[in-house]
Amino acid sequence: MIPTKGYAAQAATTPLAPFDFERRDIGLNDVHIEILYCGVCHSDIHTARSEWPGTVYPVVPGHEIIGRITNIGEGVTNFKVGEMAGVGCMVDSCRECENCKKGLEQYCKKGNTGTYNGHEKGTGKMTYGGYSKQIVVHEDFVLHISDKLPLETVAPLLCAGITTYSPLRHWKVGQGHRVGVIGLGGLGHMAIKFAASFGAEVTMMSTSPNKEEDARRLGAHKFAVTKDENQVKELSGYFDFIIDTVSAKHDYTMYLGLLNTDGVMVCVGAPPTPAEVQIFSLLMNRRSLAGSGIGGIPETQEMLDYCADHGITCDVEIIKMDYINEAYERVMKSDVRYRFVIDMTSL
Ligand code: NAP
Ligand code: ZN
Ligand code: ZN
Repeated sequence: MIPTKGYAAQAATTPLAPFDFERRDIGLNDVHIEILYCGVCHSDIHTARSEWPGTVYPVVPGHEIIGRITNIGEGVTNFKVGEMAGVGCMVDSCRECENCKKGLEQYCKKGNTGTYNGHEKGTGKMTYGGYSKQIVVHEDFVLHISDKLPLETVAPLLCAGITTYSPLRHWKVGQGHRVGVIGLGGLGHMAIKFAASFGAEVTMMSTSPNKEEDARRLGAHKFAVTKDENQVKELSGYFDFIIDTVSAKHDYTMYLGLLNTDGVMVCVGAPPTPAEVQIFSLLMNRRSLAGSGIGGIPETQEMLDYCADHGITCDVEIIKMDYINEAYERVMKSDVRYRFVIDMTSL
């Protein structure tokens, strides 16, 4: 076993604190990564605080991982020692089911193994995430990272990036489409960048009037404050596609009313409480309400390559590991521009 250190939550109500643990020995197809940066996703908070069901403590969050490969197993063919590598939200899946065969490992019929709070296949041991110095991952779940972009701005692509890229690609969003993005946080700021890059007209819908300038700089063509009823009314029936990134309880029916006939609203934000939806808002204009979870490994690599080719990066605030509890509080107040990334040399 390989001793390492990290930061863990020991319970739903205690702050994250230093935690010593072990990574597995490097297996035949494993890649050993020294972690340099790890993004802070709102899912880390939902999990650490047991806002979603199923957290097993201690939990080491973190699934936006960038690092340097320091060792590889004898059977590894795709990676070399010294290269930069990324790890996102999954570290394993069955590889045999119809979804895995299509590169949709996130929808593995037998369940994918989460990078943290997941069960390692075979041993059943809990997986620990990227708020740590090193990680050992099967090469099939490791991504190639280009040296064209600053590494710290690439880390959040591994979750915030792919989670917004994937539905925009699946629903073929592009030129001639009016796209609405709800919530300007980690996912929301990447949704603006991708939708604008694909040629769509983008409207940012936010509860924070002070984010307008940023939204426009990120590529939004329009901005609406959703607490202002008049601004919302003006957008009635306007959008072909809406991507909802909101992390807390909110009114889905109000946003469905902003879709044009045959419009689609995709939820990527995952509030812990069930949603109430007025079905009339769907059937009156043949609207669709859908969901989307992260993205598969091939599409994640495609997204990383797209970003490298088009100079797309995340807007990040670099923090030290011991700032993590303050960072969580600021995320809860929607006060991050637009992703915290931990500099792991600070641990
Ligand atoms: P984030 O950075 O905290 O952004 C969420 C944004 O939602 C906030 O910045 C805020 O934007 C808005 N918001 C927050 N509370 C709100 C409320 N009560 N009413 C209306 N708007 C509110 O979080 P994130 O990391 O982007 O993650 C967003 C959600 O996506 C989380 O639930 C996360 O777990 C989920 N997620 C899902 C997937 C997936 O696979 N589907 C992957 C990653 C994350 P404004 O200030 O602009 O209003
Ligand atoms: Zn995430
Ligand atoms: Zn599978």
